[in-house]
Amino acid sequence: MTSEFELIRRYFTRPTPGADLGVGDDCALLSVSPDHQLAVSTDMLVSGRHFFPDVAPRLLGHKALAVNLSDMAAMGARPRWFTLSLSLPAIEEDWLAAFAAGMFALADRFGVDLVGGDTTAGPMTLCVQIMGEVPRGQALLRSGARAGDDIWVSGAVGDAALALAALNQQVLLPVGQLAACRQRLECPVPRVELGQALRRHATAAIDVSDGLLADLGHILAASQVGAALQWEDVPRSAALRALGPTPLAQRCALAGGDDYELCFTAPASERVTVDTLALSLGIALSRIGVVTSAPGLHVTDGRGQTMQLDRHGFDHFA
Ligand code: ADP
Ligand code: MG
Repeated sequence: MTSEFELIRRYFTRPTPGADLGVGDDCALLSVSPDHQLAVSTDMLVSGRHFFPDVAPRLLGHKALAVNLSDMAAMGARPRWFTLSLSLPAIEEDWLAAFAAGMFALADRFGVDLVGGDTTAGPMTLCVQIMGEVPRGQALLRSGARAGDDIWVSGAVGDAALALAALNQQVLLPVGQLAACRQRLECPVPRVELGQALRRHATAAIDVSDGLLADLGHILAASQVGAALQWEDVPRSAALRALGPTPLAQRCALAGGDDYELCFTAPASERVTVDTLALSLGIALSRIGVVTSAPGLHVTDGRGQTMQLDRHGFDHFA
């Protein structure tokens, strides 16, 4: 029987070049760069609620870290360290090895170190806490949007929700499109470079985890403004476009969750800068509407009609 300490040593102890002290003592020791603020966020994934119990462990390791990196991106922070708290029903070494491989592959890609955690027996739950840094005063808050600002979103939205709908047999997708959408659902790549590049250009930002309208709604509420969006400008994949303007397509793009794109606002004077950024990072950045002084969130369809929207996002307690 492998001990808890042996498991931690085997699967979760790696060099931590960015930390003063990593896994193994009572605490990790970390130094924030001079004139930076520490940015901290945590996200929990519960089996049966946030992932299927039989999901491939490599993908789960990736996603547990990815959703946390996405919060760093939304803040304009540079991610540096994370902790991992694991509750596991049983010790399965193959599972742990694959989980760790998925997690560390993403960690290496963005240069973040696992510096500690906790491991316990219980229902499967994963909790990552991520820490990063941002030059003092330059974090991208939700509260900075101003009337007249453009509203932008990165990449494309709705594919993760479309994959979920297909897996639940609500829609039939061609094999290739299903694979692409599943990739978005199970292996999202957080927009870490984009978030940092938007500092000093964006006025507000959020990552799209609960659905575009719900998350934009958080910016609007925090900034005490409204928004007018054009449905035609909301970036969608070929798979989603192929569905046409059906309720399912609208729900996926506007209210689907798990996109991990960035939605941000910026003054019109930043348009050229944002377009240049899109080219240099190789990420599509689409202008989908404007911030209004009047409160409320309106979406106009291709014929200039205001769209009736039922649900603005996915609320875990709804
Ligand atoms: P303590 O009893 O002080 O809570 P633990 O025995 O829980 O310490 O953990 C020992 C060391 O291993 C600590 O440095 C802790 O941060 C680290 N650790 C425990 N679980 C994990 C994990 N899943 N991933 C990374 N580090 C872990
Ligand atoms: Mg402990």
